[in-house]
Amino acid sequence: MSVSCPVQKKCGGCDFADIPYEEQLAKKQTEMEALLGRFGKVEPILGMEDPYHYRGKVHRVLGFQKGKILSGCYEAGSHRLVNIPECLIEDRKCQEIAAGAVKLIGDFKLRVYDEDTGYGLMRHILVRRGFATDEIMLVLVLSERMFPGKNNFVKALREIHPEITTIVQNVNPGHTSMVLGPQSTTLFGPGFIRDAIGDLTFRISPSSFFQVNPVQTEVLYRTAMDFAGLTGKETVLDAYCGTGTIGMAAAAKAKSVVGVELNPEAVADARRNAADNHIANISFLAEDAGQYMERQAASRILYGRPEEERFDRNEAGKLVTARKGACDVLFMDPPRTGATEKFIRSAAKLSPRRIVYISCGPDTLARDLSLFVKLKYRVEKIQPVDMFPETRHVETVVLLSRKAD
Ligand code: SAH
Repeated sequence: MSVSCPVQKKCGGCDFADIPYEEQLAKKQTEMEALLGRFGKVEPILGMEDPYHYRGKVHRVLGFQKGKILSGCYEAGSHRLVNIPECLIEDRKCQEIAAGAVKLIGDFKLRVYDEDTGYGLMRHILVRRGFATDEIMLVLVLSERMFPGKNNFVKALREIHPEITTIVQNVNPGHTSMVLGPQSTTLFGPGFIRDAIGDLTFRISPSSFFQVNPVQTEVLYRTAMDFAGLTGKETVLDAYCGTGTIGMAAAAKAKSVVGVELNPEAVADARRNAADNHIANISFLAEDAGQYMERQAASRILYGRPEEERFDRNEAGKLVTARKGACDVLFMDPPRTGATEKFIRSAAKLSPRRIVYISCGPDTLARDLSLFVKLKYRVEKIQPVDMFPETRHVETVVLLSRKAD
């Protein structure tokens, strides 16, 4: 069965929405086999039981047309706002709250921001829900700090939607396509929500990266952990670690974990997440992953076999050991653009026994795997996971193992 979406073509988010789900999966499977089949068997894609309303995050751009407030997204490839009355993949509760906030903006006669002139106040609405905790955050993005009737607005919103656990005002004065500006003020509640993956909890602030499909994230991480085959003795590297979710899931089954991530805010979140979950054998570094790998590979060559013990203090203040230049298992989860050649060549020099590559970009994955197989690695398993039903995107977990020296 396929479900129709009235704005599918204009919104451009769900290219596959008019195709029955089983067919969508078959299409993705064929595509992955064409791209990755030369590296080995592509396991059947892991789909969702209920492929609708899985997104725990709703974003609406606000606009104005013929005396009415529009709330939706920009038409694909243009700057025309498309009103979204209802979305197939977003969580229903988040949509309801976004619609409630839009109605209140009208009732309070707050002026909606005009992209062209730069006048007006209300720019975006963001709603995020922690599926495991049922905590809900509403972020109102305004063009300036002054928010007339702020307290009454918050009071009215909480009366209509008492399930909201925190409300944040973000100020974005810039002429920019970024949704959030640099400054956030909490208007109600703690200013963040929590969600859980397995038995770990994570703090999600307005700008935190967090996987938007919690059901399939569990499937993805289970696959990645299964591929890693950790026994408790390994030194693990989580490259492109975001808020540290994969490394933290690995920490209980490893000796020590280092997470590397370019975005310092994500690293701050990762550190706090590790402390909140009382994980002592993990530390994080804000650095370009390629640069980090290059340094580690150099120190491995300098020190020979990675026997050197180096002592580090992690964020919880405990001493953890990290052998210089040592890495038994590498998790890598780069953005759609994939890893760099520098990263891959250094990773091969560092010589982990296993590499678990999690990819949201099949083309760059194929490119990167070609280099890995030239450099003493063998592709052992390829497992696509349907993280984004109704869209053309596919996530893939690949296990690589080091060939015998
Ligand atoms: N592993 C995480 C996040 C993956 S998203 C999770 O599952 O939640 C990819 C991450 O790579 C983003 O957080 C992005 O900030 C980070 N990133 C992008 N380029 C990078 C680079 N050159 N070095 C390190 N991290 C990078």
